[in-house]
Amino acid sequence: MESIIKLLPEFLANQIAAGEVVQRPESVIKELVENAIDAGATSIAVVIHQAGKSLMHIIDNGKGMSPEDLPLAIKRHATSKIASVDDLHRIMTLGFRGEALASISAVALLEIRSKQSNQDIGYRLLAEPLKPETIEPFHCDKGTQVIVKNLFFNVPARKKFLRSTITEFRHISETMIKFALARPDIRFSFSDEKSAIIDVHPESLQERIRSLCGNAIADALHELHFERDGIILNGYVGNPSTAQHTRGNQYLFLNGRAIVSRSLNFAISQVYEPFIAKNTFPFFVINISVNPESVDVNIHPQKHEVKFDNERALFSIIQEATLKALNTAHDIPVITSPEFIAQQPFASFGNNNELVNRVTGEIISPSSSKNTSGSSSDFRQQIPSSKHSEWNSKKPFISQQEISAYEALFGKNSTQDNDVTTPLFTPEEQSLSVSQIHNSYIVYQSADGLYIIDQHNAHVRILYDKAIQSLTREKNTQELLFPVTVPLTTTEKMLAEELYENLLDFGFSFSFDNNTVIITAVPSHVPHGKEEQELKKLLAHIEEDISSAQLDAQRKIALAYARSHAISSGTVLSQEEMKAIVHEVEKMGKKPINPYGKPIMMSISLEDFIRTFRN
Ligand code: ADP
Ligand code: MG
Repeated sequence: MESIIKLLPEFLANQIAAGEVVQRPESVIKELVENAIDAGATSIAVVIHQAGKSLMHIIDNGKGMSPEDLPLAIKRHATSKIASVDDLHRIMTLGFRGEALASISAVALLEIRSKQSNQDIGYRLLAEPLKPETIEPFHCDKGTQVIVKNLFFNVPARKKFLRSTITEFRHISETMIKFALARPDIRFSFSDEKSAIIDVHPESLQERIRSLCGNAIADALHELHFERDGIILNGYVGNPSTAQHTRGNQYLFLNGRAIVSRSLNFAISQVYEPFIAKNTFPFFVINISVNPESVDVNIHPQKHEVKFDNERALFSIIQEATLKALNTAHDIPVITSPEFIAQQPFASFGNNNELVNRVTGEIISPSSSKNTSGSSSDFRQQIPSSKHSEWNSKKPFISQQEISAYEALFGKNSTQDNDVTTPLFTPEEQSLSVSQIHNSYIVYQSADGLYIIDQHNAHVRILYDKAIQSLTREKNTQELLFPVTVPLTTTEKMLAEELYENLLDFGFSFSFDNNTVIITAVPSHVPHGKEEQELKKLLAHIEEDISSAQLDAQRKIALAYARSHAISSGTVLSQEEMKAIVHEVEKMGKKPINPYGKPIMMSISLEDFIRTFRN
C-alpha cells in the first residue's frame, strides 16, 4: 500500500513556521535585531517604511557571515548558536532555533549583505520565495545588513490581517525601546521614512532611560540591586509619582531578553499598592540574571514567555528587591488615592461647602456647580425625607446630591439641559430603594421583579453615548485663558495627527509645534489644570485598546473617554449616584450592552421567584 504521510517540502515547512515566528513586521525586526546583538554588534540601525510593511532594513557592525554561511543562514534549523542538547539548556544568545531567516525568506523578499573583518569584500544574498537564492560579491562595510521587502506579498490572508500603519509602527517602536533599554551599551538608531525616532549612543542605564523616557521619569528613579540564591536583579524602579494609567512603562528582562510575566509584574505592583492609585502602573526597568540552566526560554516561538524553575522564589525576591529600592529612597510620599476619596462620597473636607468629584478626584466647590442657588448645606436640608417627600407639590427642587451625582458621573454638562424646576429623578426613581452589593453591582426592585446592574459596564456605556453625542452633535468645549503646552511622544503625536479633526469635534483645540502641542481649548468636562493629563490619558487609551483598532476615529475617541473615566468595580457608590446610573440605564431598553458587547443588566422576574420557591 502506498504511504499517505509525506515529508513537507522545505518551503511549505518554512511557511508554516513563519506563521508562528513572523506574525507582523515587528516580529521580523525583533528577530533581526536579536541576530545583530548575537553577532556582537555595538551599533545597530533600523530603518522602516510603512511601518515595515514595505521595507525593513537592519544594519549592524557585528561579526558578519562568510559566503559559505550565507546560504546556510536561510535554511531551516540552521544555526551557529547551538550544537547539542546540552547547549539548549544553557542558552546565552537571543536566537537559537535557526528559524527566523528561513521563515522570513518564505514570506518576503530577502536580501542579506555581509562582510567579515578578515575579508576584503563582502557578499550579497538575494532570496525570493520558491526560487533558488543567488550569492554574489558585493562592496559593503564590515557587519551585516538585512533588507526585507513586501512582507506577506505571497500570503494575502496574512497581509490582510496586518493592522493599520500606526498600530504596526507602535509595535515596532515598543520593541526598539525594549532593545535599547536592555542594552544601553549598544548604539541604536531607528527611523522611518519621515524622521529619526530613536538615536542613542552607548551610555549608562539611567542615562538611557533619560534618553528614551524623558527627564520626568529619569529624575524619579531608585536604583535596584539585589542578589540571592544565584539570582541577580539590577535596574531602576520609579518613584510612586511615575505611576501611569497604562502598563507601557514596565520593562522586565531575563538574561538580556525582554520577557512578559504577569506574575512578576503583579509582584512589583503589590509592593507599590499602598502608595499609588488603583489601576495605575509604576515605572520599572529590571534585569534578572539567572543561571541559564534554570530557565526554559524554549516554550514560546517568539521567546517572550519563559519558564522559571522556581517561580515562587523569584516572586518574593523581586518583591523584596523592589521594597528595598523604594525604602532606601526614604521619600515615598503617602498619596491619597482616588479610591480612598471615593470611599467617602461627597465627604466634607473641613469646609462643608466642598464636594469631591469621585471620577477626577477633584474637589468641587458648590459655586462651580451649575443650577444651584444657596449653599450646599441649604440643599441638604431640602432633601425630602422618605416620610414627607411631596414630589407632586411642584416645589422647585433639584438636590445638590443629585446634581453632584450627575456631574461626578457624567461630567458637568449633564445637568445643564435640565430646568431647575424639574427633578432629575422621577418620583418612582426617587422613592426607589437601591443598594450596592460587592461594591460592584446595583440592585433594585421594580413591579415585575429584581434588577441587577453592573456599575462599571453601565458607566462605560453611558459615557460612551455621551461622548458620541458631543462628537456628532453638540460639541462641548471651553476656551483656556492660558494655552497649555504639552510634550508628546512620537506615537502620541502620530495619533494626535491622525485623529486631529475628531479631537476638535470632541472639544479640543490645539496646534502642533515640533514635538509638542499647544492646547487652547478642551472639552468642558476637563477640570482646570488637568488639560495635559486628559489629552495624554485619552491618547494612551486609544493606543492601548487593540480591540478598538478597527473602529472609526469617533468611536475610538468615545471608547477611550469612556474607559478612562468609568467608575471601576469595587467603588462604593452613594444612593444618588446609583439612582443616576439606574435612571440612565432605564433609558437604554430591554437588554442593554456596553460598547464591548458586555451585558449591563440582568433581571429576575417575579414569576421566576414564585416558580422557584413554590415548587
Ligand atoms: P538563529 O538566530 O536562531 O540562529 P536565524 O535564522 O535568526 O537563527 O539565523 C541563522 C544564522 O545566521 C545564525 O545562527 C547566525 O549564524 C547567522 N546570522 C543571522 N543574522 C546574522 C547577523 N546579523 N550577523 C551575523 N550572523 C548572522
Ligand atoms: Mg535569530
